[in-house]
Amino acid sequence: MTKVARDYYGILGVQRNAGADEIKRAYRKLARELHPDVNPDEEAQHKFKEVTAAYEVLSDPQKRKIVDMGGDPLDNGGGGAGGMRDPFAGFGLGDIMDAFFGAAGGASTRGPRSRVQPGADALIRMRLTLEECLTGVSRELTVDTAILCELCRGSGCAEGTSPEVCETCGGRGEIQAVQRSFLGQVVTARPCPVCRGLGEVIPDPCRQCAGDGRVRSRRTIVAKVPPGVADGMRVRLSGQGEVGPGGGPAGDLYVEVEEQPHSTFERSGADLHCTLRVPMTTAALGAVLPLETLDGVEELELEPGTQHGMELVMSGRGMPKLRQSGRVDGRGDLHVHVDVEVPTRLDARQQELLRELATLRGEDEGGLATTNGKGGGFFSRMRSHRTR
Ligand SMILES: [Zn+2]
Ligand SMILES: [Zn+2]
Repeated sequence: MTKVARDYYGILGVQRNAGADEIKRAYRKLARELHPDVNPDEEAQHKFKEVTAAYEVLSDPQKRKIVDMGGDPLDNGGGGAGGMRDPFAGFGLGDIMDAFFGAAGGASTRGPRSRVQPGADALIRMRLTLEECLTGVSRELTVDTAILCELCRGSGCAEGTSPEVCETCGGRGEIQAVQRSFLGQVVTARPCPVCRGLGEVIPDPCRQCAGDGRVRSRRTIVAKVPPGVADGMRVRLSGQGEVGPGGGPAGDLYVEVEEQPHSTFERSGADLHCTLRVPMTTAALGAVLPLETLDGVEELELEPGTQHGMELVMSGRGMPKLRQSGRVDGRGDLHVHVDVEVPTRLDARQQELLRELATLRGEDEGGLATTNGKGGGFFSRMRSHRTR
């Protein structure tokens, strides 16, 4: 490994203006020649890693941009520093190898397995208020994951050294035993215990990562959560998870939303619900009332004769409708449930007025004696129904 920015285009043998397809083809061709399954030779394995690293970089638009600006995205210790890993997002190195070589899953012990393995995903929880779910947030998170070892850049070897072919298995990664039985010769194979199936050993491990190719690191990243998220939703930050063994491509980081309950509003998908308490007289006479919404105080018009249990809908005052695509498509509604309060303590004068009202309305036949109780009989129990 050299200290200067590596020529990733040269490693893959493509022009600087090569398209994604061309880069993929070039990598596929080289990987076929150099893959440890095909070519256990030490130099080929070293080249295979270089080619794989070059492909990782050039197939990622953001990392490629860094290269095009004269930098080296694998040179800053932040293996997952890049953002999106298109067009192979979520497509680990193992998958690519399986697709190219038709490996029969990881169970196969045929040939040495690669030291470079894709990294694991990571999950982090983020507590958000309803207001933050409304607007979306951009928040700094401290994550503690494995990142690429800066010192060896994933090779696991001390500076100036390189892996050596495992003497025990001769680089095959497995040990074969031939046994004679009444069925004839039986060949059994098991992973080599010395190199753990890798076919190579690191004689002089990197002192920083002890040969793993990655180190644990605490770093701060900015997580952007879109408007309209809800409890339990996960936002994927591509390539921000753990770097794999041997400096393999990083997994993804998932940020899971933990929505805190709101004191006023109850959420149901994109709709919000709240209860508005109004005195009996206000409900009967109608009024324009200030109502606290997530967008500030707004005027809510109560029609004269508003009934208990009525639901008034303030359209577009709910939560953003977040689609699967990540786009916001309008907003839900705010449902205001009217709770008409019947007075429970009336003084003599108030009782007199209500009795007079009852007489005027011809409602004084039944229940007069119970008006200072729980309101039974005076106003008939209202049925709830929707306004719109
Ligand atoms: Zn190292
Ligand atoms: Zn071995």
